[in-house]
Amino acid sequence: MNKQILLKILFIIISFTLLDSVIQYQLVQNHKKTQIVDVTQELSTLRAKIEKEVTSNLLIIEGTANFVSMVPDIGQELFSRYSKEALSESSILRNMTAAPDFVMKFVYPLEGNRQILGLNYRKLKGQWEQAFAAKESGEMVVAGPVNLVQGGLGLIGRAPVFVDRNGEKDFWGIVSSVIDMDKLLQAVGLDSTDLNIGIRGKDGKGWEGDIFYGDPVLFDGDTSVRMIVNIPAGSWIIVATPKGGWSSSSEYSLYVHAAIVILALGMSLGAYRNSRHNAIIRQTQDSLNQAQAIAHLGSWRFDHTTGAVWWSEETYRIFGVSKETFTPSFEGFLSMVLPEDRAKFLEAFQPSVEGCCGYSMDHRIMRPDGEIRHIQDRGETTCKPGGSLPHISMGTVQDITERKRAEEALQASEERMRAMAEASYDALIVVDSSDVISFWSPAAEQMFGWSRDEAIGQKMHKLISPKRYQKQAFEGLERFGGDGTGPIIGTVQEMTAVRRNGEEFPVERSVSAFKLGNSYMAVGSLRDISDRKKIESELKKYADRLTLASKAGGIGVWELNVQTNALHWDSQMFRLYGVQPGEFSGLYEAWRSRVHSEDLEQAEGSLQHAILTQALWDWEFRVVWPNKEVRHIKAAALVQADSNNRPEYLIGVNWGVTMARKQEEQLRLLATTDDMTKLLNRRRFMEMVEREFQRSSRYGNPFSFIMFDVDKFKNINDTYGHDVGDMVLKSIASTARTMVRDVDILGRIGGEEFAVGLPETDMSGAELLAEKLRVAMENKEVVLGDGTVISFTISLGVATLDASCSEVNMLMKHADIALYQAKENGRNRVEMYEPDKS
Ligand code: GH3
Ligand code: MG
Ligand code: MG
Repeated sequence: MNKQILLKILFIIISFTLLDSVIQYQLVQNHKKTQIVDVTQELSTLRAKIEKEVTSNLLIIEGTANFVSMVPDIGQELFSRYSKEALSESSILRNMTAAPDFVMKFVYPLEGNRQILGLNYRKLKGQWEQAFAAKESGEMVVAGPVNLVQGGLGLIGRAPVFVDRNGEKDFWGIVSSVIDMDKLLQAVGLDSTDLNIGIRGKDGKGWEGDIFYGDPVLFDGDTSVRMIVNIPAGSWIIVATPKGGWSSSSEYSLYVHAAIVILALGMSLGAYRNSRHNAIIRQTQDSLNQAQAIAHLGSWRFDHTTGAVWWSEETYRIFGVSKETFTPSFEGFLSMVLPEDRAKFLEAFQPSVEGCCGYSMDHRIMRPDGEIRHIQDRGETTCKPGGSLPHISMGTVQDITERKRAEEALQASEERMRAMAEASYDALIVVDSSDVISFWSPAAEQMFGWSRDEAIGQKMHKLISPKRYQKQAFEGLERFGGDGTGPIIGTVQEMTAVRRNGEEFPVERSVSAFKLGNSYMAVGSLRDISDRKKIESELKKYADRLTLASKAGGIGVWELNVQTNALHWDSQMFRLYGVQPGEFSGLYEAWRSRVHSEDLEQAEGSLQHAILTQALWDWEFRVVWPNKEVRHIKAAALVQADSNNRPEYLIGVNWGVTMARKQEEQLRLLATTDDMTKLLNRRRFMEMVEREFQRSSRYGNPFSFIMFDVDKFKNINDTYGHDVGDMVLKSIASTARTMVRDVDILGRIGGEEFAVGLPETDMSGAELLAEKLRVAMENKEVVLGDGTVISFTISLGVATLDASCSEVNMLMKHADIALYQAKENGRNRVEMYEPDKS
């Protein structure tokens, strides 16, 4: 049970509880009224009885008074006789007294009452006033009820007696009697009533008088029924309530309760059932709405009489409007139909309305947000009975946009397929499982020489396969027809095909399958690869030639994947690096680690640059073999970019240039050094001295020059032979080399003439070195194989750079002059060039 139905039932219970209260109240009120009526009736009966009793008894007193007035000289005996007679009419009058001139003189019965005789009213407090009042008013005065001396309640009536004397009323005295109230009330049946009775009005004073009977509570409030009891000379108030109080519940109240509970239960049950029923209806409605949403199917209803239009929820959704903001109408609907489709719609709709029949058509609508949807619109109009006036039109709208689009897409895709097939250079052929051709593309016409009309309906393999392959093809087809699979489905193969003119040619064939109804179809795409085959064989020849060439030339080929750093070497590469294939990691690092440390930075830098700029890499570097041998490698590489033009591969070659480099080195040495002494030859010496001379004279740095020549060398040659002379020259060279600094330039400038260029050295520094050289040579001994010891000396000339030296030749000349002087001055000595001496 849901909250709503609980609330509903709660509401019913509250309503019925309220209703019950109201009815119960009404019942109580009615019941009260009935009780009041009953009490009133009973009370008025009582009242009447009381009035009658009191009045009739007081009348007896009055009668007695009248009698006395007629016999003013009445004696006790007559009074007793009359009183006896009078009192016999009543059982409640206790006695009768007569008091002429207010003095008690007669009493009946005399027995038991003698003590009152002789009492004077004038002296009786409380009685005198009333007796006097009776005399003054001329009317009977009623007093009490009072508590009697003899016990019980008594009502005393005192009647004045006037005697007619000569036409004037002369006061005689008072006749009085006591009504026994207990007896009176008993006589009227006050004890035997169903009522609680209260009486007030002592001395006949009505409401003002004291309460003399009953519970005083009865006079409180207004819950009692009240009546006035009229007695001679005044009144009492008598009140009554039912014994046991006013009943607040009616005898019907239980029935009413029961009836209301039954009603409430019935209604609750009804509401519950109703809610269940509503829930079922709602569920049905929900299911319907859901079903409509799933099917994109909305429904509508149009009442021609009232113009009222109803739309289902899905109809609102299809039209892209909200139930809250859009009120459906025929005009509103029509405005949403696309203008181009409106006339078409009306052409279908109007006759259906006029002819009271159905219609069905497709049209488009535009939603408020501008989206266009395709709608299948169906409807039917019913007519009013007995006439041809349209009554109700009902129908459905179905959103078929997706279907339409799919259809359009399919159509477009079919057209695209056809266009592709027609544009394709590949022959496209469709066959069924019996190998019968159902599609033959223009490229197939071109390739095989059979027209479309000739090919369709033919067996494909008979048409395009060489006879020797046909049996095999048909076997494959049998399997394909059974389950849509086959050895060639989904594969790309090369095969031989045959043209109409009998020419055989290679084709690349790919086949895929699709199911049409219950049978399988195969689509074959055939590409004439005659040209490719030709190119391939050309390429192969070319590649073979290249392989041979690189083998013969000792060229190693390598390939580096720039993105993964994977490096591939051919066998020649391993030979060039002195590496076994097992020692090669196949990564860039394998090459890098083998490059000579002095060459690595430049080699790598130039390689990176080539990759970045996609330029040719052309470089030379040394590699170190595992056995520490150093080899010279020449390298060249080209960058291959991927489809995004990012460098992907580097394909390169290496070849060995060690021999060439060694020969070059030798040539270089030959050109610059003296072969025998390994010192700089004259040409190289002159080049280097020239460079230092220029630098020093430019910056004003000191630069000095020493030239020396072996003394009397001819003698050595002559004495020991030319070879020994050579030994001496070598010895001089090696000794001098150990004595000069790295920056000094030492060369052999003639047969047995040497020179040293001294950068950053002044005359005294040069002189010092010259002297050291002289001493060293003087002390040097060349020992021959036979133990002969050869000594020799040298003479040295020293010059230094000064303002007069504008070029290196002048400096050399100065040194030469100094050397000449050293010879002149006795040899084995050093001479400094002095400008003045020349
Ligand atoms: P001095 O210089 O002291 O005046 O006497 P000297 O005997 O050394 O005279 P000079 O310098 O003129 O002679 C040079 C000789 O050195 C001439 C030549 O035979 C010899 N000579 C030159 N080149 C070579 C050489 O390469 N090997 C040998 N063994 N002798 C050489
Ligand atoms: Mg010489
Ligand atoms: Mg010499």
